[in-house]
Amino acid sequence: MRTIDEQGYHFEEWLTPEAIAKDVQQVADIISADYKEKEPLFVVVLNGAFVFASDLLRALKDVRCEVTFIRVSSYYGMRTTGQLQFIVPLQQVVENRDVVIVEDIVDTGLTIHQLKAHLRGLGASSVKVATMLFKPEKLEYDDAKPDYIGHEISEEFVIGYGLDFDGFERNLDAIYKVKE
Ligand code: 5GP
Repeated sequence: MRTIDEQGYHFEEWLTPEAIAKDVQQVADIISADYKEKEPLFVVVLNGAFVFASDLLRALKDVRCEVTFIRVSSYYGMRTTGQLQFIVPLQQVVENRDVVIVEDIVDTGLTIHQLKAHLRGLGASSVKVATMLFKPEKLEYDDAKPDYIGHEISEEFVIGYGLDFDGFERNLDAIYKVKE
């Protein structure tokens, strides 16, 4: 089993690249079926979701779509700050668009809760959420439950496949879980 040591923490491989690819294709197939007749706008939440978004969007079948990016921050190291900052604001008109937010992980749901309100306020026709990982036990906002989920995870901290540890390790091809 592959392992990573980062800033005194020990991580073990949890989802292999092959397992991730399977999850991504399953999500892509469902989104393809749901959005075949629509022209969705995918809003990718930087920085973490860029890897998942890249694989997900290329796995869609027969979906005419656009993609744009937004950058928010609510996490430092392994603790949430509870405060969402818009570092790169939305640069695309979302009025009357079917929006799909693409996230790396939904944890407390604060990010999605605030982003959904933001996008609805800008006049989006619909706002759904696709995420590689979801921590159902940690969800604090009912409206942040994702519509499309790659894999559920309990409360552990994970890195890789876009997910960072203080900015590092996003480029790992697998997802690693911290070991206490
Ligand atoms: P939420 O707003 O749902 O509490 O947190 C969402 C954000 O927190 C994610 O986009 C991600 O940046 C960060 N996050 C939550 N859990 C983890 C985790 O286990 N690992 C990493 N690297 N980031 C996490």
